[in-house]
Amino acid sequence: MKVDVAVIGAGVIGTYIARELARYNLNIVIIEKENDVANGTTKANSAIIHAGYDAKTGSLKAKTNVLGNRLQEELCRELEVPFERIGSFVVAFNDEEVEILKKLEEQGNNNGVPGLKILNQAELREMEPNLSEEVVAALYAPTAGIIGPFELAIALAENAADNGVEILLNSKVTSIDKSNNKYIIKAGSHKIETKYVINCAGLYADEINNMVNRPYFEIVPNRGQYHLFDKTAGDFVNKVVFQCPTKAGKGVLVLPTVHGNVLIGPTAENTGNKEANETTTEGFTFLREKAEKVVKSFPYYKVITSFSGLRAKTPTGDFIIEEVQESRGFINVAAIDSPGLSAAPAIGNYAIDILKTSAGAFEENKSFNPKRKAFKPFTELSMEEKQQLIDQDPRYGRVICRCEQITEGEIVDVIKRKAGALTLDAVKRRARAGMGRCQGGFCGPRVMEIIARELNIDITDVVKDGIDSYILTGATKTIYDDTENLAAATKED
Ligand SMILES: Cc1cc2nc3c(=O)[nH]c(=O)nc-3n(C[C@H](O)[C@H](O)[C@H](O)COP(=O)(O)OP(=O)(O)OC[C@H]3O[C@@H](n4cnc5c(N)ncnc54)[C@H](O)[C@@H]3O)c2cc1C
Repeated sequence: MKVDVAVIGAGVIGTYIARELARYNLNIVIIEKENDVANGTTKANSAIIHAGYDAKTGSLKAKTNVLGNRLQEELCRELEVPFERIGSFVVAFNDEEVEILKKLEEQGNNNGVPGLKILNQAELREMEPNLSEEVVAALYAPTAGIIGPFELAIALAENAADNGVEILLNSKVTSIDKSNNKYIIKAGSHKIETKYVINCAGLYADEINNMVNRPYFEIVPNRGQYHLFDKTAGDFVNKVVFQCPTKAGKGVLVLPTVHGNVLIGPTAENTGNKEANETTTEGFTFLREKAEKVVKSFPYYKVITSFSGLRAKTPTGDFIIEEVQESRGFINVAAIDSPGLSAAPAIGNYAIDILKTSAGAFEENKSFNPKRKAFKPFTELSMEEKQQLIDQDPRYGRVICRCEQITEGEIVDVIKRKAGALTLDAVKRRARAGMGRCQGGFCGPRVMEIIARELNIDITDVVKDGIDSYILTGATKTIYDDTENLAAATKED
């Protein structure tokens, strides 16, 4: 396959860059090792669009966070992705921490974050009544928001595919050769010749760089664990509530999600292993201690699932977005740890500007369509709309996921889309079947049957999430005709 641009990695960064490059007349491919887009760090994080006061003034993190925050609104509107600008608090428990709030406010002002304000206890309690009485003040950032993180990357991938970008899944990049101003990439069963490479491989960006260039940065995995609470705990907090940051990171936070759940987390643990995304008892104990400090009587019996994600950190602490000196047309977009989700549109635009500087101007794709239609949850339709849809396709009248009230019609829709779902968790991330209180306990087998039927594969070939995550291995009971042996055995008795 011959293309102009190969984007390695289908997280929020790779899918954003590919979608934006589709505005030009270019042949673009996204190469992804997993069996779905958004299957790396993009699927497991705090889902916050940070305001931008955390990062050191002048750093790439600070610049792209503040700009990215501003760009998210329009992007999410175009792609119909859930995004709510609910605001955030950093809370302080004593005078020492109030001093930290003042420093954050000053840094935020220098970074260009609008509307920052330190609130006293009474003002705070009025806005967030469930906060602990021990909280004495908070830094309020009205521009912070919450988003559906994997929904954003999935929408970007769908829109990129609609605009002609090819997405190769199950295609791990194993080698890149540079010769005569072009790159030859081996990825799974594919051999791709490209003029430009954009390395958005998250935790593995250092390894991709090292296939072509001198090793000049290292990605250090850092794990964050979470608890997700049932929707009945959903109005426990109204805003994103941070504690004062420490050297380890932004600290444990409590926040509502765009779907009405409550999330607490994350931990910050250097794992030394890029695949160590398990959850641990120590992690949960830590989360509980921290969360209970900030919110009164947390309903722990309402935890419906726990998960973890791995930050792609680098010892220097800032994003790495640059063309490699010795490799023209090879651009690293690496070490995109937090606030990479918030900053994604600005990070992507910055990388594309670098590419244009290196390659020259690109011709505009006049047929580029920036809009993508989300699937509309059946439960949110009016009675007339529901009836209309059922008349057109009776599968919308069959509820498969009882917790989230997701119909068969919606599940089929997300399987049939471009960049559609191929696995159980891919359906979960798109249609929310299995996201509710039972976490797929009831609907899982039904969803598997639908996937097998729609993709025309055997049900034993349906996987949960990652490659080889098989759910069924064979029948538990086999019925076979053994009448003769049975008759002989009965005679002997
Ligand atoms: C615990 C935690 C909390 C966070 N909270 C927030 C937050 O609230 N707000 C915020 O702004 N940011 C947050 N972040 C950061 C944010 O999630 C990341 O910055 C963002 O998701 C990074 O996206 P990405 O596309 O660079 O990486 P990824 O999503 O990891 O994508 C990289 C892709 O490259 C693929 N890949 C790797 N190697 C290869 C290969 N050899 N061949 C082919 N494909 C390959 C991977 O499979 C993966 O899909 C958080 C991160 C963590 C871990």
